[in-house]
Amino acid sequence: MAQIDDLPPLREVIRTHGLDARKSLGQNFLLDLNLTARIARAAGDLTGRTVLEIGPGPGGLTRALLASGAEHVIAIERDSRCLPALDEIALRYPGRLTVVEGDALTIDPVSLIGDRPTRIVANLPYNVGTQLLINWLRTAPWPPFYESLTLMFQREVAERIVATPAKPDDYGRLGVLCGWRSHARILFDVGPAAFTPPPKVTSSVVELVPRREPLPCDLIALEQITAEAFGQRRKMLRQSLKRLGDPAGLLAAAGIDETRRPETLSVAEFVGLANALAARKSTS
Ligand code: SAM
Repeated sequence: MAQIDDLPPLREVIRTHGLDARKSLGQNFLLDLNLTARIARAAGDLTGRTVLEIGPGPGGLTRALLASGAEHVIAIERDSRCLPALDEIALRYPGRLTVVEGDALTIDPVSLIGDRPTRIVANLPYNVGTQLLINWLRTAPWPPFYESLTLMFQREVAERIVATPAKPDDYGRLGVLCGWRSHARILFDVGPAAFTPPPKVTSSVVELVPRREPLPCDLIALEQITAEAFGQRRKMLRQSLKRLGDPAGLLAAAGIDETRRPETLSVAEFVGLANALAARKSTS
């Protein structure tokens, strides 16, 4: 195992602080400092940057981020049992680690970060990971407060994030939102054995870089369209969009054949439909 700092090995940290993993908090810890260093490297050059980390736990990734030169790590952790272990890291890196106790779903990250150049890097708790990602992609104003997201997800979620119509089984609401506002790609897989305790499935580290100028689109309309379309994904759009009223008119306005099914539409075509819906709302 790599020696990245003079702090105790993570197994010892976990033992000393009694951090037995809790499933309810999505706790699958990474104890291999080679792997946490790899994730930190995947986030690019962190020199002079603030990193927002969600769920530092015993601090393996936090240590890697600090050792790799992040100017400041702001870490939001829900489990108060982890705070003494994180305090030890803060002492080792004076002034460079701020730990905020709380639920990342409800804390406004901008209030913590201000306008410093920020990257978000996290081994996310699986139970709230997708919702956190959606929140970051819904951020207003756009371009957002972060330069990039480097995040660990279950492989199955990672595949939905990067999916396009070429992968119809994985393509859905998440893929459209991610594709509209970001360039998303899977960087590498991490097997269950890398975690303590091991989860049942393989995980993947995903990178999302926000598009500076995504196609102009009304976010609420886009979410409404994709919810309806993928809510009945086996049906043709003329059927699945019925609840929005006059689906034929909507599809014609966007130049989309009404017999198509949602997984065949590109992100640009969904944007066209969302804009047609928004235009109709604004005139009615
Ligand atoms: N970063 C550590 C690592 O890589 O070993 C821990 C990752 S573990 C998958 C997820 C972490 O997120 C846990 O420490 C858990 O307590 C924390 N967590 C769970 N739900 C959270 C929430 N809503 N807000 C902030 N942290 C949360």
